[in-house]
Amino acid sequence: MAIKDPQISIIAPLYNEEEILPKLIERLDALIESSPLSIEVVLINDGSKDKTPQMITSLAKTNEHYTAVLLSRNFGHQKAVTAGMSVARCTEAAFIIDGDLQDPPELLDSFYTYIQDGYDVVYAVRQKRKENIFKKGAYFMFYRLLKMIANIDLPIDSGDFCLMSKRVLDLMNSMPEESRYLRGMRSWLGFKQIGVPYERDKRAGGESKYSLKMLFGLAYNGIFNFSEFPIKFITRIGAFGILISIMYVMYYLISTSLLDKSPPAGFTSILFFILFFGSLNLVCLGIIGEYLVRVFFEVKNRPVFIIDQVIRKDA
Ligand code: UDP
Ligand code: MG
Repeated sequence: MAIKDPQISIIAPLYNEEEILPKLIERLDALIESSPLSIEVVLINDGSKDKTPQMITSLAKTNEHYTAVLLSRNFGHQKAVTAGMSVARCTEAAFIIDGDLQDPPELLDSFYTYIQDGYDVVYAVRQKRKENIFKKGAYFMFYRLLKMIANIDLPIDSGDFCLMSKRVLDLMNSMPEESRYLRGMRSWLGFKQIGVPYERDKRAGGESKYSLKMLFGLAYNGIFNFSEFPIKFITRIGAFGILISIMYVMYYLISTSLLDKSPPAGFTSILFFILFFGSLNLVCLGIIGEYLVRVFFEVKNRPVFIIDQVIRKDA
């Protein structure tokens, strides 16, 4: 039988992680063995094309600590974690980690002490990133920009890696939004939250499953789901542009009639302004579109993910 009423659910999404999986399971087994807490592990297969689903299925069938969740296709990291959160059966707290061992699972026991002290969310803050310089720089700027413009207080340099109390888990599960930025939703909930520094490890093997496009997608969701700054910025630019154009017309009138100067042959400058403001218009339409497209997807009210199968021992 699958273990009953575990205190902790460890949730890890997997997308083509057959290479890492044995190491992950080894580390989790050691943790289950050594930790005083009773633990279930929920592994989510996010539509992998390799052996990941078969591996976690046979594991869940034979090991009572493991549950395998097979999604009907690839839904992306955020939704895979969401699916795992929906089947977690913990009574005390849920531990969200990446499946590639970048977030050391061994931190569970020390994070748990904060839950005992009455915190609802213990999130990990990256001290050092073992990534290439481009990624490091992009992450650095993104978190600071987002903090500046977001409507809520978002912690800097922290991802989804966290331990959340059962009530935060339930509340997250009750939030129906389609476009998910989990770390933002977690902050939005409030309660007592604390950041704990840790060193983010290198991937235990294989390649990053987040393409640049997906990373940008995540960054977009962070910005447009939690900030109205871009849309307000448009209005300000527009107002500023109108001011400039009025001043320009006044200058033109004065210089032609009063000072009796002939109008300049400003062909290039006209072209420049047409091009510049034309493009600005397009960017602004795009920004409005970002919000609109989010409304569009939310209004459809589709389920966030589709589970094909949940596999537990004897269940
Ligand atoms: N992942 C997933 N679905 C995806 C992409 C990634 O479930 O579409 C998982 C992946 O298997 C890993 C975690 O999300 O366990 C983090 O992804 P990755 O390590 O590729 O991202 P990075 O750490 O490079 O940002
Ligand atoms: Mg990773």
